[in-house]
Amino acid sequence: MQQNLLDFDAHALAGYLAGMGEKPFRARQLMRWIYKAGERDFAAMTDIAAALRDKLAQDVCIAAPGIMHEELSGDGTRKWLLNVGTGNAVEMVFIPEAGRGTLCVSTQAGCALDCAFCSTGKQGFNRNLGVAEIIGQLWWANHQLGKDADENWQISNVVLMGMGEPLLNFDNTVSALRLMLDDQAYGLSRRRVTVSTSGIVPAMDRLREECPVAMAVSLHAPDDKLRDMLMPVNRKYPLKELLAACRRYLEHAPRDFITFEYVLLDGVNDSVLQANELVRLVREVPCKFNLIPFNPFPQTLYRRSRPEAINRFRDVLMEADIVVTTRKTRGDDIAAACGQLSGSVQDKTGRTVQHLAEVP
Ligand code: SAH
Ligand code: SF4
Repeated sequence: MQQNLLDFDAHALAGYLAGMGEKPFRARQLMRWIYKAGERDFAAMTDIAAALRDKLAQDVCIAAPGIMHEELSGDGTRKWLLNVGTGNAVEMVFIPEAGRGTLCVSTQAGCALDCAFCSTGKQGFNRNLGVAEIIGQLWWANHQLGKDADENWQISNVVLMGMGEPLLNFDNTVSALRLMLDDQAYGLSRRRVTVSTSGIVPAMDRLREECPVAMAVSLHAPDDKLRDMLMPVNRKYPLKELLAACRRYLEHAPRDFITFEYVLLDGVNDSVLQANELVRLVREVPCKFNLIPFNPFPQTLYRRSRPEAINRFRDVLMEADIVVTTRKTRGDDIAAACGQLSGSVQDKTGRTVQHLAEVP
């Protein structure tokens, strides 16, 4: 099979071209064609020598995952279902807002971590996405949005908050992040690219060293007992360790706070008492909170907290001088809201206890 150039980060591309006796500037030129111009036909890359174009066309390709399905929500949110082969599909979502456009990208087909409130987790885990499948989502979205652009289609922010746990697909995620940040590719600032994690502590430390970008951590409970129940990964990396990792991350982070995500589940984690506990818990971590009203999906037993409970919870945090936003639910008419992404994943490996043993 032909190598896919979307699988190469800048370093790998330079290495590949050097192997063909080409100068480093060729790699930069090629990257601009692929990512800035969104070109996948070597013949159209007119400032590259014809002989090299022919050779590239023979040896390699530029291929993003194919789109199986596109849906447009009443609020402008778009969801694409991407074919990642062997019966698996993952989803990506574009959320236009005044002055910015956020692309929510998936990093795995399914997820092994089985959080109690997450539709992706309920699908089980199939496999990690490759670099081309991760960066290819951005490539596709740019291509599609540019094609039938009406107004606000620019992708100004990327969040790795789609299907999967990015830090359990570390190497591919980091290569894709580097392309997002690279000036020859998408040139996004580190502050505008956010990794969301359920709290894989050693991988948070690696990310801090290798490619620090903005960090969102899914907290969802103020104590270990409840978090163990909602997020089995907590048994491996309990809150004390997780919060210490957050503090360490901030030493290199492009922003001076961690964003904590907190899904509000009616009668489970939304009391005033729990909000107060949460304030005590995060006392030593500069942070902002993103409260997420639970998005239901078929077969879930959880319910979204009532608006009064959400407001009360928010007020307790705000009284403690924590900046809080309550996430507006976007795209829920097309099941594109957080935690509703399920694509169609063939679980290969069975249940979670087993997966947790594999977590580094
Ligand atoms: N695996 C990573 C990133 C993907 S999940 C993580 O867990 O952080 C992205 C966010 O959606 C997480 O904060 C997750 O807790 C949240 N989420 C999952 N299921 C949800 C649901 N049903 N309703 C609202 N948010 C949900
Ligand atoms: Fe995986 Fe994140 Fe869903 Fe938990 S919330 S199952 S970590 S995708």
